[in-house]
Amino acid sequence: MKLRMILLSLATGAVLCGQQSSGGALTARQVIERIQAHVGMPWHKETVDTFKAGDPDTRVTGIATTMMATYDVLVRSAAAGKNLIITHEPTFYSHLDRTEAFEKEHDPVWEEKERFIKEHNLVVWRFHDHWHLMKPDGIMFGVVRALEWQKFQSATDPSVFVVPEMTVAQLAEQMKRRLGIHVLRFVANPDMKITKVGLAPGASGPERHRKLLQRDDVEVLAIGEVPEWETIEYVTDAVSEGKKKALILLGHIPSEQPGMEYCAEWLKTFVSEVPVEFVATREPFLLAK
Ligand SMILES: [Zn+2]
Repeated sequence: MKLRMILLSLATGAVLCGQQSSGGALTARQVIERIQAHVGMPWHKETVDTFKAGDPDTRVTGIATTMMATYDVLVRSAAAGKNLIITHEPTFYSHLDRTEAFEKEHDPVWEEKERFIKEHNLVVWRFHDHWHLMKPDGIMFGVVRALEWQKFQSATDPSVFVVPEMTVAQLAEQMKRRLGIHVLRFVANPDMKITKVGLAPGASGPERHRKLLQRDDVEVLAIGEVPEWETIEYVTDAVSEGKKKALILLGHIPSEQPGMEYCAEWLKTFVSEVPVEFVATREPFLLAK
């Protein structure tokens, strides 16, 4: 690996020298090749970590890392001179970012986003699978650091924590504050005292949630999101049955966002030619009065 990295940096250096003489900079494709060389594993053939919009050979003026390439994130990134957007989640409203239906329907929301990307010469690339497969998982690392829970994390299972005793309501309040969440909901007897916490950021699915909730070392599980008739109904029943279980819904974006803030730090360790900045994705929800 080390030799490969040295060879790569030599190759990259040579390319850069050639381009500097013609006044150029890194292309988006070259940035992604550099990421692929630094993830510490062979690049998977089956992956959603691909270009989603824009021309990969575009010269990069700056890089924005973000949780979701929302229209708002694209506008703020372009205004800050960042034309390569590295997003953890989809750009076009589904896991595979397929756009055929929007094209056929002339969907006005999608069309305006497409137009903005073209007009501003933006390139969007998704960094999901490999960032999770890193050791440690890049998302989990950033989230646990933001929660200040490193010392409570199990050495054998990074999804499980033993925290100082508090009520579920207090734990929910702590997570809301430390992750900067506006709308946090929880399913629980709020006064139940807990120490054993499971953490499953994002949308890891009801089966994964249930497996964690079945464990004796998980009293309360904090997740990003799930349909309301799956894990939420399961925990609602567990609470009604008097079982010592609770669920905290952080929301998908805040549950993983610190991991993309960490991604910007990680990128800066091997991309120095252009500025790299974390652009926070805004939480979508408002609270009714
Ligand atoms: Zn994720």
